[in-house]
Amino acid sequence: MHLLIDDVQLWDGTGSPMQPKMSIEVLDGRIHWIGLASQWQGNRATVRVVDGRARTLIPGLMDCHVHYSSPGGPEWIARFSDPLPEISMRAIELAETSLRSGVTTARDVGAPNGVSIRLARAARAGEIRAPNIRAAGTWIAHRGTYVSFARLFEETGELRNAIKTEIEAGADLIKVALAGWNEGARPQDAPDIPFDKKLLAVAVDEAHRAGFKIACHANDPTSCRTAARAGVDPLEHGMFLEASDLEAMAKNKTYLVPTMSVWDAMLYYARAVDWPETRKKRAEDLRQGSRAAVTAAIKAGVRIALGTDAGGGAARHGRIAREAELMVECGMEPGDALMAATSSAASLIGEGDRGTIEEGKIADLVLLDANSLEDIGALRLIAAVFQEGRRVA
Ligand SMILES: [Zn+2]
Repeated sequence: MHLLIDDVQLWDGTGSPMQPKMSIEVLDGRIHWIGLASQWQGNRATVRVVDGRARTLIPGLMDCHVHYSSPGGPEWIARFSDPLPEISMRAIELAETSLRSGVTTARDVGAPNGVSIRLARAARAGEIRAPNIRAAGTWIAHRGTYVSFARLFEETGELRNAIKTEIEAGADLIKVALAGWNEGARPQDAPDIPFDKKLLAVAVDEAHRAGFKIACHANDPTSCRTAARAGVDPLEHGMFLEASDLEAMAKNKTYLVPTMSVWDAMLYYARAVDWPETRKKRAEDLRQGSRAAVTAAIKAGVRIALGTDAGGGAARHGRIAREAELMVECGMEPGDALMAATSSAASLIGEGDRGTIEEGKIADLVLLDANSLEDIGALRLIAAVFQEGRRVA
């Protein structure tokens, strides 16, 4: 497989500025050569040439928070309990939808029955058209606080066993949920959550000792306070993170994966499906809390990686551009939002061979019909998606 993306504007994800009139040669799935278009020495007759003029090439996008086992939409939680054959077939379809939107790597952070692990394996084997998937297996939560189809525990031994079971089943990372589902409002002065500081320390220890990253769902003031100080790898959602939490996250080098698309989509369905007033109000509060936290996190220098929570909230799959737009609306520079979706995401996920366009790296690439630094919405204008050098969209 031999490819030349010719005379393109290049944004390589390393922190370098946009470079005009570049060519990128891809050989056997990897980036073989990068340079000025005028300096390419090869024979055009023997390569597949892709016209890059008036286009922008960026690294393949990474969505750090998806659930391919649910399609999102107004009834997203019920969809996780659909019959297993339906969930499995649909997951294949949704993963392809995601790939076509430019997502060449995704972290699936929770699925019933470990569906995501099977999906990741099929993708790795090249049996389905899907992103490179890193799967968390099934969520781990304290009994009585989270969805019933999670792996539930009550005490330390059970928690350690739950983590070991996920690792044995083939999970690539561990996902724990401290608090309830995003819609359940917890009063500010409620007593401590059962999945407390001590139990979270046990989970972090168990996962890290086995060499696995641990992602932590935290979505109210108490769970945010606990997760921010626990040394988890990413904190997911993080609405209502306060200044001291963000300080702790910056110090611990804990990533924030904000998943703002969820609140955006919830508000859409609140109107479109005519939800009751209280549910609309909750959606609005979550959106405000999330935006305030992200704006403050940017200022506090917290590392941020992009995740949509497609499937795990009302957000649909294949809409990664919206999440990047929301980050920019919260004060992020378009270049930083792109980093959150490429190189920063790669360091969070642990994909050292992906996330930037450099010689020797895996050729996961997205070609856009506009300049995404001028307008982040250009992420919607996909001209082509390449996965390991193969055109997949
Ligand atoms: Zn989620």
